[in-house]
Amino acid sequence: MQTETKIMLDENDMPDRWYNIQADLPSPPLPPLNPQTFEPLKPEELSALFPKELIRQEMSRERWIPIPEEVKDIYRLWRPSPLYRARRLERALKTPARIYYKWEGVSPPGSHKPNTAVAQAYYNAEEGIERLTTETGAGQWGSSLAFATSFFDMKCTVYMVRISYEQKPYRKVLMQTWGAEVIPSPSTRTQAGKQMLEQFPETTGSLGMAISEAVEDAATHENAHYALGSVLNHVSLHQTIIGLEMKKQFESIDEYPDAVFGCVGGGSNFSGGSFPFIMDILNKKSDVEVVACEPMACPTLTKGIYRYDFGDTAGLTPLLKMYTLGHTFVPPGIHAGGLRYHGDAPLLCQLVDNGYVKAKAFYQNEVFEAAELFARTEGFVIAPESAHGLKGVIDEARECKKTGEEKVLCFVNSGHGHFDLSAYDSYNSGQLVDYEYPSELIQEALKNLPEVESI
Ligand SMILES: *Cc1c(COP(=O)(O)O)cnc(C)c1O
Repeated sequence: MQTETKIMLDENDMPDRWYNIQADLPSPPLPPLNPQTFEPLKPEELSALFPKELIRQEMSRERWIPIPEEVKDIYRLWRPSPLYRARRLERALKTPARIYYKWEGVSPPGSHKPNTAVAQAYYNAEEGIERLTTETGAGQWGSSLAFATSFFDMKCTVYMVRISYEQKPYRKVLMQTWGAEVIPSPSTRTQAGKQMLEQFPETTGSLGMAISEAVEDAATHENAHYALGSVLNHVSLHQTIIGLEMKKQFESIDEYPDAVFGCVGGGSNFSGGSFPFIMDILNKKSDVEVVACEPMACPTLTKGIYRYDFGDTAGLTPLLKMYTLGHTFVPPGIHAGGLRYHGDAPLLCQLVDNGYVKAKAFYQNEVFEAAELFARTEGFVIAPESAHGLKGVIDEARECKKTGEEKVLCFVNSGHGHFDLSAYDSYNSGQLVDYEYPSELIQEALKNLPEVESI
């Protein structure tokens, strides 16, 4: 029997390549489409927004992509991150299952997001770009990009969803401390923002709206590019360092998971944690179960449809083939702010469509109940987003208690919840409302999907 609590890797054992699942997919990924012509996008069309190397990675079919030394050097501030065995949680659940979690809360901004923010800032700086624009929901991505750009002496402009700007002032302070300019979205800074404000003066904003603004800002300014914190292939690619480290850590204690869980907002931490395991499934070396966990209030994978849709509200971004609730979907102001996006990473969606990944949705009170149990057994107060993956694991561990199966379960614990204490406060005082996004509203939003002949 293993006795480890914290399974660590040596700095020198940090993976030096990212894993590109595009090399191993059973069928080639469906290309992004030009938003006007609906024709497959040409790489040049992305160059107003992204540096060449990221565009190359976005479309690459190479299995392994080297991590630049400059990026590894910054990763070393917190990577390799620990894999924990959650023994006290196992005991509290009286489960025969062994539960592990990969802890991404150790990065300076407190989540997995700097894994890609640092890489993106690096490739942009290499190309001489002086400013990055982006959107942020709960503020984790904005703070990660602010952190990353500060290491490369770049400027950073963050369009922050207005409701988060108002509800989460500390994230804003964090971004400003790392030198970013933070603008509540929709704003009057862009045409897209102005139109939005005219149409919906009372809007609390959404990620889709903020993306429209950040994209317009980058596209209309020299020496500025745009950075996206999730969804795109290169983002999932950079996050695979999570799963690659997990595999090494499991190997070092002679374990291999029976199931991998994680929360899904745009799908990046979950893709990063699971793709290296899905590689084993695709190579017929494993039959690990892979389970994506999302909120009932934004049930993209469980209730959305698999279609081409825009990435933003205004319809400026390329069309991506993904599970979507419709780009005009405005999510309710639930607290799991990072899980409110209308779509999900196309690579992940393809794997869901092909049956390699299952999806489950949870209500927020049961998710917070799981987070509270975790805080009282494992000590860490985790992000409400991450707690969706935890809830998936806890349900499975309870099943194991019934069946007596000693399964090895794990989840990507994507970040800490130190900036989410007002949400914990609402839960503690019994004020969180369970919300299921009504099917009628989903049907309504789906009417606005672009008509694309399927190719
Ligand atoms: C942003 C965020 C998420 C959701 O984003 P993904 O791209 O789905 O990973 C989940 N957890 C934390 C802590 C986050 O900051």
